[in-house]
Amino acid sequence: MAAKADVVVIGAGVFGLSCAWNLARNGRKVIVLDRAPIGTEASGWALGRLDPLLKGSGSTGSTEQDLPPGHIAKPVAQQELALLSYRLHREMTAEIESTSGIDLQVDEQPTLQLFYSDADRKSGLQSAESWTSLGFKTEILSAADITKIDARFAAPEYGGALVQGPYFIDSMRFVSALAACAKQAGVRVESATVTGIDATGAAGASTVHTDQGHYEAATVIVAAGPWSNHLLQALGVDVPVHPSKGEILRLAPPRSGSFATHLHGPCSLVNKKDGMVWVAATAADAGFDRSPSNEARERLLNSANLMMPDAGESEVLKHTVCFRPATPDDLPVVGRAGDTGSVIVATGGGGSGIMQCLYVGKLVEGMMSSDSSEPELASISLGRFT
Ligand SMILES: Cc1cc2nc3c(=O)[nH]c(=O)nc-3n(C[C@H](O)[C@H](O)[C@H](O)COP(=O)(O)OP(=O)(O)OC[C@H]3O[C@@H](n4cnc5c(N)ncnc54)[C@H](O)[C@@H]3O)c2cc1C
Repeated sequence: MAAKADVVVIGAGVFGLSCAWNLARNGRKVIVLDRAPIGTEASGWALGRLDPLLKGSGSTGSTEQDLPPGHIAKPVAQQELALLSYRLHREMTAEIESTSGIDLQVDEQPTLQLFYSDADRKSGLQSAESWTSLGFKTEILSAADITKIDARFAAPEYGGALVQGPYFIDSMRFVSALAACAKQAGVRVESATVTGIDATGAAGASTVHTDQGHYEAATVIVAAGPWSNHLLQALGVDVPVHPSKGEILRLAPPRSGSFATHLHGPCSLVNKKDGMVWVAATAADAGFDRSPSNEARERLLNSANLMMPDAGESEVLKHTVCFRPATPDDLPVVGRAGDTGSVIVATGGGGSGIMQCLYVGKLVEGMMSSDSSEPELASISLGRFT
């Protein structure tokens, strides 16, 4: 006999769990299905940077063609979502930590964006004013100012911008905490590989087929990250979400001691609360190839070396690979899919899904409560691709 719920969510990454938690808190019976343990995919391995201002070094880049060279800030639509998402994270951190009992390892170190060209510096000067007016203190620094922060930083001649406000959490702890919050709100998280969705049932019910049996629900949410389109295409829906392979190195701390400023340039270089120096990240269209590459390792070490030679020489303790659910404009894709309206897509977090997930979960709950087919924020609607 099929298990029944109001909502079945496919995918227990941060997008699926946030949707599930929001819906269960609002009285719905929710089952989340995943083929792998919590945190197996990008939601567990991401850098965990919550930055509403600067472009990520692993951004898929497809929106960059519209921006001038050296543009260091997020494009407008991405920044709007990022600010909403960032503020919600800040508001909810204490609740997530106390409900789950998990310390998210919030780490408030400042970000130092290094400028490698005149165009970078001009873009920094332009952005500094608007970021400060948004409440993010930003100082433009000379090369000499940078070495005063830490003499080990290799200051480029064009200087940099020191930004306060972007911060870090531990992604593996965060996705585990979301799972704990969802479970406390009554969500059932079950282990199953979804093989298909039948959205043509009587009275609007959909059936989710898995290797563990069938599940029936009035609404199915597809939050299967970069695998979402495999499930959606069978319903005649083609969502342009693809895997963007991202590799990260975790290094031993430099022999000269730890450092307390996140360096951002050709990559992110950050001494995280786990004691390791994270070098993040590459971005490649390589399908679902899970193998760590020597090329990525070299590129990340060279980038680290360029910003802080002491760090770039440290031992590599871990080399991870995971997949961003990337879209052509680097924004999520949320909305009702297919003819019956009983399937909702919630994916496309790209390189910012850890930051965006709480806000996206809230929007999905809002869509269901108001019975609308699109989320309140038009820039992330599925409709822009159909
Ligand atoms: C290298 C890298 C660094 C990143 N750094 C940051 C960062 O600093 N800040 C930030 O905000 N974001 C960051 N991100 C982005 C973030 O990790 C992702 O956007 C986010 O984790 C995506 O979450 P998700 O739930 O959509 O997908 P996923 O985490 O991929 O979860 C999808 C789930 O669906 C399951 N699934 C798929 N198919 C099926 C099926 N058929 N049956 C059952 N289960 C299925 C999978 O097992 C998986 O658990 C980074 C990403 C990468 C790759």
